[in-house]
Amino acid sequence: MKLISSIFIFFLFIQTSFAQDYSDKITLVIHGGAGTITRANMTPEKEKAYREVLNIALQKGYAVLKQGGTSEKAVETAIMVMEDSPLFNAGKGAVFTNEGKNEMDAAIMDGKTLKAGAIAGVTTIKNPIRGAIAVMEKSPHVLMAGKGADLFAKEQGLEIVDPSYFYTEARYKALLKAKEEEKIELDHTENTKKEIQKKPKTGFAKEEDLIFTEGKKYGTVGCVALDKFGNLTAGTSTGGMTNKRYGRIGDAPIIGAGTYANNSTCAVSATGHGEFFIRSVVAFDISALMEYKGLSVKDASDEVVMKKLVERGGEGGVIALDRNGNFAMPFNSEGMYRGYIKADGKSEVMIYKDEVKK
Ligand code: ASP
Repeated sequence: MKLISSIFIFFLFIQTSFAQDYSDKITLVIHGGAGTITRANMTPEKEKAYREVLNIALQKGYAVLKQGGTSEKAVETAIMVMEDSPLFNAGKGAVFTNEGKNEMDAAIMDGKTLKAGAIAGVTTIKNPIRGAIAVMEKSPHVLMAGKGADLFAKEQGLEIVDPSYFYTEARYKALLKAKEEEKIELDHTENTKKEIQKKPKTGFAKEEDLIFTEGKKYGTVGCVALDKFGNLTAGTSTGGMTNKRYGRIGDAPIIGAGTYANNSTCAVSATGHGEFFIRSVVAFDISALMEYKGLSVKDASDEVVMKKLVERGGEGGVIALDRNGNFAMPFNSEGMYRGYIKADGKSEVMIYKDEVKK
């Protein structure tokens, strides 16, 4: 018996000593939403503010990875920075539903274990990404919705706030404007010409109600990260869509659509017109193209975002990262708030289409 346990301990020692170290590959990539984001729609002050928050998210997430923390912790940290900022449509900056509420969705997936957690339509969890993490780690379930999800988060000791915490004047005004114009908006659409589509007489929202020719912005936030243990994690958090009704839920909390991670392929977080991303199972499709066809993370994400989604009329983008620290940030819209930081600390934040990775 003693001999057997000695042999076991010896092999355990060998295995841990020779486990590959990914310290020189640690990488973190974020997005803060895609859409009609052009220089014409932006003021220098606003641009500066967006870049600042994106940089803070990158640096804080990177600090976790650099200190030997997990990709899950890094994703949680970076997303919380963006959730706490009113600039993004997640957490504090979440958009309003038709009833004047803020209902948020979030998801997380661990590429090593393929475990995942998600919440939908929550109204009191200060940082929805933490709610998703609690579902993954503290429950046997994957997706919890509405009051039950809020209650579960409370029972798990997460920070709970009065729904009024999520009130921001800019988002409320966007709701009033959307209602006045009788439309359903995907995030704020200020300063842009829109093609307004009337709701059908039944009041039931059809897909066309969600479509605008100009002024679209999808302010979801997301993060993918690779830690020194070689583990990938993907996370996404969103307020969904201004003036949404009937408990509408987007792609962000749907595993395989807006969020997916698998150590043998990649980690993906998406932003865009959720209905298209759900039907195209975007995040899983990118992973599957890598797994079944051997495509690189860049080719797989381009194939899905720049070809398949474009052909189907789905606007938006993704961030995708593989186990070697290779990543892609394709989007088929005018712009996407995005940024990355690599093992050596080199980082970049980009907003517009004409900004290319150095
Ligand atoms: N994908 C999100 C949704 O459809 C919207 C966004 O990306 O901002 O709910």
